[in-house]
Amino acid sequence: MASRRDFLKATAGAGAAAAAGLGTARPLLGAPAVLRGTATPVSVASGNGLEAVATAIRVVDGGGDTLEAVVEGVNIAERDPGDSSVGYGGLPNLDGVVQLDSSVMHGPSRGAGAVACLEGIKTPSRVAMDVMRYTDHVLLVGKGAQRFAVSMGHDIEDLLTERSRRRWIEWRATMSDRDDYLTPEETGHGNSEPFEDEDDYGLGILDSHDGVRPQGTINCNVIDRNGAISGVTTTSGLAWKVPGRVGDSPIVGAGLYVDNDVGACGSTGRGEAVIKTCGSHSVVELMRAGMSPTDACLEALRRIVTFTVEPRLQRDDGRPSFNVNYYAVNKNGDYGGAAIWSGARFAVCDGGDSRHEDSAYLFERNG
Ligand code: ASP
Repeated sequence: MASRRDFLKATAGAGAAAAAGLGTARPLLGAPAVLRGTATPVSVASGNGLEAVATAIRVVDGGGDTLEAVVEGVNIAERDPGDSSVGYGGLPNLDGVVQLDSSVMHGPSRGAGAVACLEGIKTPSRVAMDVMRYTDHVLLVGKGAQRFAVSMGHDIEDLLTERSRRRWIEWRATMSDRDDYLTPEETGHGNSEPFEDEDDYGLGILDSHDGVRPQGTINCNVIDRNGAISGVTTTSGLAWKVPGRVGDSPIVGAGLYVDNDVGACGSTGRGEAVIKTCGSHSVVELMRAGMSPTDACLEALRRIVTFTVEPRLQRDDGRPSFNVNYYAVNKNGDYGGAAIWSGARFAVCDGGDSRHEDSAYLFERNG
């Protein structure tokens, strides 16, 4: 039986395209023009994913599945109480409750699964994978997602660490001078310990629109030597968010997209901007059209700049006052990362030790 790609190739000749009124010989769906046919296994992730990419490569080198590889990789950060951007220890919402979002995509089977507003489960990426494997659905949210997780054997635990709780209390105390909470200065119980994990990788914390709100997420993508591609994105989302807020991470096409014919992309940073521009899907489509991963990421970021018309989200010079990062790999194993603002880094592993590389960017941070 002819595959969909064979069919598209067969019908994408100039005559067929002209007859269909497409005005081009290029198929709208199919492999990217740059396909070389072989790939070196490579994993690319957000800057907090050094261990994730190393794990992903180790798993695929051992013959493991690409989705299992990236999920095992991000599970390290999800279970780490010291990483305040994901899973256990993630920063809570306005009410002090940790709500997690995650999505996975498995290229070879064209599978996708996601959970949003999930409470009490340390590894939402594993629940997203269960949604993909064991249901006919793609996205489960809130209480339903939690009930499903329990039915699949996941334990419910308290995800709020003492450190995250203190940061939430401190934020609540400093939020307004007209509520009944005393400020840390007034109580003499300020935070003495600097939060060193903040914005280590230019994820967007210091550029978030109110200038102080922590953000963070881990995205990890991998391609194996057979060209199989998978990706995962997992997060506790925007700190102090309105309860029920869902970011880009669990939205297929926004915080993650994988097309096994083309490549994968994921994002971190201001989720609302990524959702409005179908960010990761845009990057994959630009790679399909022949752009390198880095150029595709930069082009998708330019769309975000164009879409950012709200003065409250702009600096004085009209540029976005927040950051967004994309991380991408194509079918050839070429990879790249880019951010709106300079100073961001992403994690890569292509066999040896994993390393950080500087992300390309649109604007100089101090420019
Ligand atoms: N993208 C995440 C969200 O909007 C947050 C982040 O990556 O900083 O939920």
